Amino acid sequence: MILRADLHNHSCLSPCGDLYNSPSRMVELAAQRGITMMALTDHNSARNCPAFAVSCRRHGIFPVFGTETTTQEEIHVLSLFAEVEEALQWGEWVYQRLPDFHHDQERFGDQVVVDEDENILDIEERYLIPGIDASIEEVAQETLRRGGLVIPAHIDRSAHSISSQLGFLPDTTFSALEVTRLPVEMDTRNHPLICSSDAHFPDDIARRWITFPMEDSTGDPRQPFNALVRALQEHTPALSIASGDPA
Ligand SMILES: [Zn+2]
Ligand SMILES: [Zn+2]
Repeated sequence: MILRADLHNHSCLSPCGDLYNSPSRMVELAAQRGITMMALTDHNSARNCPAFAVSCRRHGIFPVFGTETTTQEEIHVLSLFAEVEEALQWGEWVYQRLPDFHHDQERFGDQVVVDEDENILDIEERYLIPGIDASIEEVAQETLRRGGLVIPAHIDRSAHSISSQLGFLPDTTFSALEVTRLPVEMDTRNHPLICSSDAHFPDDIARRWITFPMEDSTGDPRQPFNALVRALQEHTPALSIASGDPA
């Protein structure tokens, strides 16, 4: 079978994410729009991943769990994992390095932890956007050490990207690079590329995706993630960038 994967999306836990973008709503919309694998990647937190897991089960979507971490250099990096528990533990590592700035809800929007039925479980008090006390090198190494995929986000954007913060691709091991348009102007040094929605609002879900093959399902819950890992290693994902990037 061919999987259609959208690997970068924000829920209502991200302050810039719409309050109506609950994990259950996001997954419902993605399923309607033909997505078969989806990742939840809130800024510096994985706390909505348990609700996302249940929602994906309900809608028959293969889930991937992670964060979009802001590094010391203010670069956004995706860390993706096969299982909820791995993402929650990763989220702890990130949170321990997140500066303790109080979140100004009025000014920056809500940071809401919900369950799969949109009940509010908690309001995150610490502002989730700042750079953590770890470099891109450290974030990449720690993600890989934990068995995750590490993918610098939107490398071609004019903010919070490798190109805006460094201007070149550092000599670090990455699983892939995320781009928002083609062709890519930067030298990607033969890394596999992905594109994804980076949706903060319901309308943006499933606006970009990648496709790659997976063998017939064996029932192993890690099989879809392993198929993604293999596709990146073999450079097989096809990118679908249907709409232009508003950046
Ligand atoms: Zn970002
Ligand atoms: Zn994002």
